[in-house]
Amino acid sequence: MAITGRIAVVTGSTSGIGLGIAEALAAQGASVVLNGFGDPTAIEAIRTRIARTYGVDVAFNPADLSDPQQTRSMIADAETRFGRLDILVNNAGVQFVSPLEDFPTERWNTIIALNLSAVFHATAAALPGMKHRGFGRIVNIASTHGLVASPDKGAYVAAKHGVIGLTRVTALETAAHDITANAICPGWVLTPLVQAQIDALAEREKLTGEEARRRLLAEKQPSLDFATPAQIGELASFLCSDAATQIRGAAITIDGGWTAQ
Ligand code: NAD
Repeated sequence: MAITGRIAVVTGSTSGIGLGIAEALAAQGASVVLNGFGDPTAIEAIRTRIARTYGVDVAFNPADLSDPQQTRSMIADAETRFGRLDILVNNAGVQFVSPLEDFPTERWNTIIALNLSAVFHATAAALPGMKHRGFGRIVNIASTHGLVASPDKGAYVAAKHGVIGLTRVTALETAAHDITANAICPGWVLTPLVQAQIDALAEREKLTGEEARRRLLAEKQPSLDFATPAQIGELASFLCSDAATQIRGAAITIDGGWTAQ
């Protein structure tokens, strides 16, 4: 593993999958810039816990990544603070569920801005430094919804398909360098983003939380179990390791068999 001493930005890492990835990279010895929303006291507790547990430098950047300028500034700030940026994990994302004809335009715009355009802006801002130094690892958290569709998730599915396309372009434009770009496509992972969908299902169908959870899994994920943020963190770490140097432009599923069907 060539992760010790690396500098990583993990977007949307105050919660869920991003937090799992930040923690996995810190456990391998990377210094990490956290990003995301949340209660400042809780975020500071996460920051100090990761720094203390793994003996690495952990910073926090509160950029709202639906804003291109803040996204690009977050990359510049990381380079200024640490002198370079080696690993970029584009993870921040939100969901909204509605049939297309009722899909609110502002929700569409926000999801495209955060789930897709922020990946472009962060990548574009990070690549010059990575090319100059001759090393980079870009990991984009797409989704099974980057590969297949579900009804009522128009903006999310469009954005995630876009992320996989952008990942492939990034891999081709960096092919002559020791810079890789890959996408991870999780199925259901039990995070606040998915808990909100379980709660909505329970409410709609008059189910208990446990029944709704089982129904959600049974619909899509043959393993009938969730992937975990820690497992996705391990996969992201592997993609940042020397062993993964020739994995480029891949869209790797971690989905309990969802897309094998
Ligand atoms: P989550 O809600 O637990 O975390 C989302 C993170 O993004 C949080 O840290 C939040 O503060 C941050 N965030 C939200 N809006 C932001 C903004 N405008 N600027 C900066 N940060 C912002 O969700 P999660 O389930 O951990 O999702 C993380 C990523 O994984 C998303 O891209 C999501 O699409 C993807 N994903 C999740 C699942 C799943 O089952 N949970 C499956 C496939 C893909």
